[in-house]
Amino acid sequence: MRIALLPGHAQEREGSSMCCGHFKGYGEWCLATWYIPLLAKGLRELGYDVVRTQRTDAGGTTPSYSAKAANAVGADLALEFHFNSASPAANGTEVMYWHASATGKVFAWQLAQRVAGLLGTQLHGDGALAVPTPDNRGTEAFRKSRMPFFMVEVCFAGSNETDCQLFTQALLSGEWERRMPGIIDRCIREVYTNN
Ligand SMILES: [Zn+2]
Repeated sequence: MRIALLPGHAQEREGSSMCCGHFKGYGEWCLATWYIPLLAKGLRELGYDVVRTQRTDAGGTTPSYSAKAANAVGADLALEFHFNSASPAANGTEVMYWHASATGKVFAWQLAQRVAGLLGTQLHGDGALAVPTPDNRGTEAFRKSRMPFFMVEVCFAGSNETDCQLFTQALLSGEWERRMPGIIDRCIREVYTNN
């Protein structure tokens, strides 16, 4: 199985930035670009064909270029990594999936559960967020991709200090890179490959 790993957004349009701690001011794109190679290495060791790509590889910075980039590398599954920002009270982990996919919903929920377990965060809502969302966030990435496509909203590290500290801790301790490949693998095996 070929997995595409993408950072959310783009260097010139970073999205949210970490609100506190060691990585304060680091944007979504920047942080994901740093840790994605670590996740790719772990997933390759588990036998996956991993391709790193991003929106600008397909020529733009908006979500439809995420789909184009993932389509261009022939991915069977695509994960784009983000973190959220809203009011300081909002918190938790969620994974976004295309609304019409019942399987995608299960995968999103399983992944959100396990990411929350790794970080010690709560789930935002029930953890699986159907796209299109009411604010139409990211829709074109899901509409135009030809494979199951997910946005992992790790937590509200852009606006909630507790979430930001939990994510920071997982990154600095190495838990994120150590455990995320196995978590992704387990979700894939349970939901897509049935083994
Ligand atoms: Zn984002």
